[in-house]
Amino acid sequence: MFIRAFIIAIVSFSAAGYSSADTGSQLPHVAVVTTGGTIAMKYDSTTGGAVPAVSGADLIEAVPGLDSIATIETVEFSNIDSSQVTPEMWRELSERVQELVYRDDVTGVVVTHGTDTMAEAAFFLVTTLSTDKAVVFVGSMRSGSDLSPDGPANLFNAVLQAGHPDASSWGVTVTMNQYISGARHVEKDQTTNVQTFDCGEYGYLGYIVGGDIITFNTVIEEVYLPLPDTLADVTLLFSYAGDDGSMVRDAVARGTDGIVIVGVGAGNLNEHVFEAVRYALDLGIPVVAGSRVRHGQAEPLYGDQGGGSSLVEAGVILTGSIDPYKARLLLMIALAQPDMDTAALQSLFIP
Ligand code: ASP
Repeated sequence: MFIRAFIIAIVSFSAAGYSSADTGSQLPHVAVVTTGGTIAMKYDSTTGGAVPAVSGADLIEAVPGLDSIATIETVEFSNIDSSQVTPEMWRELSERVQELVYRDDVTGVVVTHGTDTMAEAAFFLVTTLSTDKAVVFVGSMRSGSDLSPDGPANLFNAVLQAGHPDASSWGVTVTMNQYISGARHVEKDQTTNVQTFDCGEYGYLGYIVGGDIITFNTVIEEVYLPLPDTLADVTLLFSYAGDDGSMVRDAVARGTDGIVIVGVGAGNLNEHVFEAVRYALDLGIPVVAGSRVRHGQAEPLYGDQGGGSSLVEAGVILTGSIDPYKARLLLMIALAQPDMDTAALQSLFIP
């Protein structure tokens, strides 16, 4: 169960035992895993847009004062736009980060990542990592060629958080524009603005200002599943007015292992899609239903054919408090586990 404690606390980085006067050996050791994204991009006149251009070492180099708050180890994982990232890459990333957090000398890990799919990446890792150490996802909305890039300040704050003695209280986060967002509820909400990530009505975990971290909410527990060697094939479908259910039937014909379907309102589908969903369920294919609405969750409220309560009655699982993209990842990881029965599957999609 995910529980939030409403704590307002200010923890000072320098008061916690570190200052710019400390020697290297007293500093936390933070591994920075670089994967790409706008934070590692520059404008390219040939393509007319930003492209991957900056190495992991150069990213670190561009942040003044970083060596006064942590010793940094750079791990170059990839350098791609996050629209190109696949769940299999997140599986490999999780493996790599797990190796790092197992090491005694590593205090915490920062992952630089494109913002487009960063929320899903963070969720994948919070689900599959076994650690109390901080894993902080960070990127930027402006490239190194833009006026006032946000990358260096974001990276500084991410390292500050990952090396902080209290970092485990925030777990795996997306930390951008000074706000700390928990992996479970964070979503990218603005296409081009630096203030793009938020957790909706669940709220931020904290805020970084100067050398201080102000804690608003604390993550107590998250769903954990061991990292599988391969992921299940799960289809994500968005239903719409007049949907005849053929997308669900096509997914079944293609041999999908599971389906996440995004309905309207509190997670409702029309009668034709409901019929197709029952067809999938009869064949043993798990179906998870969510909503197109940003706030609130899918709920079993309506009893007409395809209404939330008829879906649950038929054996559909509702997404709980995660968005449909994360629900798909959770199903991909869950269906790859041995002995995952319906009850166990149901228990993963928590409110
Ligand atoms: N296109 C970028 C990405 O890799 C956007 C960003 O990083 O802000 O997701």
